[in-house]
Amino acid sequence: MHPFPSSPPSSLYHLGFAAIESELRAAEVSAHHAKALWRALYFHDELEPASQFSPPLRRWLESAVGEGKRFFLDVPEVVAESNSSDLLTRKYLLRLRDGHCVETVLMGYDGRYTACVSTQVGCAMGCVFCATGQMGFVRHLRAGEIIAQVLHARRVLRATQPQRCLRNLVLMGMGEPLHNYAAVMQALEVIASVRGINIGPSKISISTVGVVPGILRMAAESRPYRLAVSLHGSTEDERAALVPAGKPWGLGELIEACRTYGRLTGRRIFIEWTLVAGCNDSLETAARLAELLRGIDVHINLIPLNPTSGFGGVPSTAGHAFQRVLRAAGFPCTFRQRRGIDVTAGCGQLQAAKRLAEVK
Ligand code: SAH
Ligand code: SF4
Repeated sequence: MHPFPSSPPSSLYHLGFAAIESELRAAEVSAHHAKALWRALYFHDELEPASQFSPPLRRWLESAVGEGKRFFLDVPEVVAESNSSDLLTRKYLLRLRDGHCVETVLMGYDGRYTACVSTQVGCAMGCVFCATGQMGFVRHLRAGEIIAQVLHARRVLRATQPQRCLRNLVLMGMGEPLHNYAAVMQALEVIASVRGINIGPSKISISTVGVVPGILRMAAESRPYRLAVSLHGSTEDERAALVPAGKPWGLGELIEACRTYGRLTGRRIFIEWTLVAGCNDSLETAARLAELLRGIDVHINLIPLNPTSGFGGVPSTAGHAFQRVLRAAGFPCTFRQRRGIDVTAGCGQLQAAKRLAEVK
């Protein structure tokens, strides 16, 4: 008998390894079967055929997993898909069980494949140029829903490029990962585990708009992932015009948090900078940015603005001059390829495009 017979059904992916062990123990199945189940879930991605499992585990799966039972396998439904013309970027709008949708992208370049997943439905941070920000916050994703997106991307890769492996993950889809800290970290443990999905922690990037307590917590907890900070402004005013969420944590506080993170972890930070003409692309801004970041080990990624329907700003044409100032000041600084702008690859844009198509 399970101790909590009336708890609502849950995704099997919400359970970490220890939780699977204790579920099995509670059902009087030896916990050493957890390894076989874990391998089936995250390596083979297949619970069929049941004959791959020992009889006690098979009996537990029959009684506990499936529609109307304690656990379900969370395989989101693809409601829209858009591929770049070279098929190297594939973007999916996935429907979660409660009907909300999130975006997941599989990107391939130089033979390396990267999944880009969402961490929330919508986002509370309201960055003015971002399609997800324009949508507002709906809810946090649960750990299993983040894992399910990575599995979806890997399934697509296995089906289309069976000789390739999914080796990289970026948390740059919809939502602010450090606003959903616990679920994100729980999901990443499964994703990074060699017994789980096995994407190395140094190949996982968390991109944050600058949630200072989350950055400091990652450092204090020695989380082994890469950190990217979306800065976008070199003064309080410049940043606040693009990132209203910057207000609770001033620019000075954010830069201090980056400095502390670098000192405690010894790791390089990636600074993300979306260039918007006339807002944050002047040579003075570049010089101020260089001053702000002095002494911190950073790599600056310049991102060309992807126009969105809710924002009147236009892409900068001054990006190369901006880059030259930062390079001259000694910072590694590159342009992030916006792969497949033809697939509405900007954050939140597939969702926005679908909504537009629906109302037309
Ligand atoms: N919330 C996190 C991660 C998701 S957004 C963050 O803000 O970092 C991932 C990146 O895409 C961020 O650097 C964000 O600034 C950028 N971005 C979002 N919408 C964009 C757009 N329309 N054009 C260019 N960059 C955009
Ligand atoms: Fe949220 Fe990131 Fe979009 Fe800002 S850029 S609204 S933090 S998802």
